[in-house]
Amino acid sequence: MNTKSADYYNVDLLFNQENKLVRDSVRDWVKDNVSPVIEECNLNGYFPKNLIKNLAEIGGFGGIFPEEYGGASIDFISYGLMMQELERGDSSVRVFASIQTSLVMNTIFKHGSKSLKKEYLKKLSEGTLIGSFGMSEPNHGSDPSSMNTIYEEFDDYYLVNGSKMWIGNAPICDIAIVWARSKNNSYACFLVDRETPGFSTSKIERKLSFRASETGELIFHDARIPKKHLLFESNSFKTGLESLNLDRYAVAWGALGIAMECYEVALNYSNERIQFEKKIASNQLIQKKLVYMVTEITKCQLLTWRLGKLMNDGLATFEQISMAKRNNVDVAYKIARHSRQILGGMGITAEYSVMRHLINLETLITYQGTDEIHTLITGRDITGVSAF
Ligand SMILES: Cc1cc2nc3c(=O)[nH]c(=O)nc-3n(C[C@H](O)[C@H](O)[C@H](O)COP(=O)(O)OP(=O)(O)OC[C@H]3O[C@@H](n4cnc5c(N)ncnc54)[C@H](O)[C@@H]3O)c2cc1C
Repeated sequence: MNTKSADYYNVDLLFNQENKLVRDSVRDWVKDNVSPVIEECNLNGYFPKNLIKNLAEIGGFGGIFPEEYGGASIDFISYGLMMQELERGDSSVRVFASIQTSLVMNTIFKHGSKSLKKEYLKKLSEGTLIGSFGMSEPNHGSDPSSMNTIYEEFDDYYLVNGSKMWIGNAPICDIAIVWARSKNNSYACFLVDRETPGFSTSKIERKLSFRASETGELIFHDARIPKKHLLFESNSFKTGLESLNLDRYAVAWGALGIAMECYEVALNYSNERIQFEKKIASNQLIQKKLVYMVTEITKCQLLTWRLGKLMNDGLATFEQISMAKRNNVDVAYKIARHSRQILGGMGITAEYSVMRHLINLETLITYQGTDEIHTLITGRDITGVSAF
């Protein structure tokens, strides 16, 4: 991994001391801990679980929350920069940290009772509990509000039946945040303990993207969820969709991290690789690719920083977050492809991070709302007409 970092417009000047401290310490941590092992994890399809404790110690889980819940009240720009640096290392590491923070802890923090917050948030921040977040299903991905996981209310528990598909951390989770629908079309979100009778998980094997991330199913067969584990219930799915905001924000920063890493690898390589007795960087066609990359990265950096400011001020809209997620992933994908091409044959090997990032981007395009769905969200917002 590269230690220099792309910053053509001195975006660094927009960050405060804490932002830079968080970014630099996570960058160093990734270089020392993730880079040496990640190619093996990726090739062999497992998550480096031995890093979890250490990742917790550097504030990787729930840094945005108050100290009483294990956080450090860092702002959203510091959180974003953390995601940028983790995903430079690998999507699996960023995803682990952001499922834990953006989806699991944040949902408990926003909707949980005081006693649930006390019982779970600190342990999640310490990494002694691992969380997963189940919204998607085998037959309902882009349209989760049509979900088939059903809950029924009884005197002192809820009965849940159904299954959730493509769930990050499912095979290794201790708790799951799960969305379900009632027969009367209400939506509910539950905190489910691993030990709950009727609840089980499985692992999706033979995955070709996100290989170092554990992905699987959450299965509910007459699972009895105690009433006190209900986080949220409503007739509308709006809150369900809004619960994705912080993770989509994390994806926008993470994709930027991938773009920066792929650009820097290509820049270095093009200054070292000799063909026709000169550096390949001296060719106009190579320079054109590098110029495209750094220009797009600069635009993403400004967009993402501005979104961070809006998040800090509590002004970021669902649609603004959606735009940044779609745009940054799209840009990172194009940059990773250019980078792969600049590396020639070496670009397809595990000697460089680029092909791994390119394949991980195939997931980033699809998950947390597909490119098409985010296009429709922006289209609806600017025209006032839904084209879903
Ligand atoms: C590795 C991985 C990890 C994931 N982790 C999680 C997780 O932790 N938790 C979780 O809940 N989910 C998770 N997901 C699920 C992810 O959010 C869904 O895959 C995603 O929402 C897309 O759903 P789908 O795969 O069912 O595709 P579909 O919804 O079936 O879409 C198929 C295609 O049709 C397009 N399409 C659908 N509707 C429209 C439309 N109206 N107009 C135009 N095009 C349309 C889509 O854009 C897509 O190209 C994960 C997925 C992956 C691959």
